[in-house]
Amino acid sequence: MNSSPVTRKRRISILGATGSIGRNTLDVMTHLGGRDVFEVPAITGMGNIGLLAAQARQTSAQFAVTADPGRYDDLKSALAGSGIEAGAGPSALIEAGARETDLLMAGIVGIAGLAPTLAAVANGADIALANKECLVSAGDLFHQAITKGGGKLLPVDSEHNAIFQVLEQDQRHAVDRIILTASGGPFRNFSREQMAAVTPETAAAHPNWSMGLKISIDSASMFNKALEMIEARHLFGMRPDQIEVIVHPQSIIHSMVGYTDGSVLAQLGAPDMRHAIGYAIAHPRRASLPVERLDFARLAQLEFYAPDETRFPALGLARTAMQRGGLQGAVLNGAKEIALEAFIAGQIGFLDMADIVAEAMDRLDDGRTAHTIEDVYAADRDARDVASSLLRKSA
Ligand code: NAD
Ligand code: MG
Repeated sequence: MNSSPVTRKRRISILGATGSIGRNTLDVMTHLGGRDVFEVPAITGMGNIGLLAAQARQTSAQFAVTADPGRYDDLKSALAGSGIEAGAGPSALIEAGARETDLLMAGIVGIAGLAPTLAAVANGADIALANKECLVSAGDLFHQAITKGGGKLLPVDSEHNAIFQVLEQDQRHAVDRIILTASGGPFRNFSREQMAAVTPETAAAHPNWSMGLKISIDSASMFNKALEMIEARHLFGMRPDQIEVIVHPQSIIHSMVGYTDGSVLAQLGAPDMRHAIGYAIAHPRRASLPVERLDFARLAQLEFYAPDETRFPALGLARTAMQRGGLQGAVLNGAKEIALEAFIAGQIGFLDMADIVAEAMDRLDDGRTAHTIEDVYAADRDARDVASSLLRKSA
């Protein structure tokens, strides 16, 4: 028998380690061998310093960063004696992204993830992308940066990961359409009147997936699917009319690709983010993962419905943003963030979110495109300002 060659450990940095994606990533890494096979050049979080420090110690990370500049001392003392370097604030976050690594898990929520992810892209790291806002807000720039950096872009969002798995690389010209599945969320069968009265607590209770607060509410409003339509356009180079959404309450089919010969290829699995995360980490191989196996005899039935865009206007807004192009994705996302925060704070109703986003998109439909990341931030800021002013008017 050959003795196995000495191989260096695989380096994986994790942005947003304390969140839902981040915790699942660490779980998968532990399952795949933990510290024996992985090194963690950098790990980041924000408010939960205790968890961040524990994760950094558990993985023997080299650099731990909190996004909150005011928590540096807390993090430093939580790491005392470990030899792990501490950092805090936006520039430390970018430094975390820029630390030499083989793969970066982009698991921060929102546009705050853009700059540190781009820092890793520029270094040529492979990117496991959960942070959909990177592509929604800055798709064209992000793509140029990936091409220049030379790393792989591996989608972690479950729908896009599914499409990535069934997209035959040498048959891309023969792709007719991609079909994103949506669970329909907790209000799938609610009337508009019922939807107008829902609370953030009920909106955050996702029927199939366990996720962070904001993405759970975005799933209930289908703004998450709207972001995913724009994300798919950038990831797979589709025209807006080639991107379809179908409600599939069981979340077993994670998405599909339709080809010009009429074939539809689908990826199926239990609704568990550790699959997409493990797929991205192991790519191009397949790892053994601790996810539930599908028992088709027990699945009984898989259902499909056309989405109702009068109750879920977010889908139409995504199509508008894709058709208008330019910075409308950044505007949709920025305005949506403000509307979402206002809904969580109890200032506006569930259905008001889409009205605010639509109005902000119309007001900022000025043909601007992004030449630099600063242009993206400016569009994001303008969208937030307009959305905030609309909130004040409606108060
Ligand atoms: P989460 O809220 O659970 O975690 C977010 C992470 O980002 C945390 O570590 C938090 O500390 C950090 N963070 C929050 N605000 C920050 C800021 N301003 N600056 C720096 N760091 C900040 O969110 P999540 O559910 O893990 O989602 C992360 C990303 O992955 C989102 O873009 C989401 O859309 C996407 N995603 C998540 C899931 C899922 O199952 N959770 C599925 C698909 C895609
Ligand atoms: Mg998704």
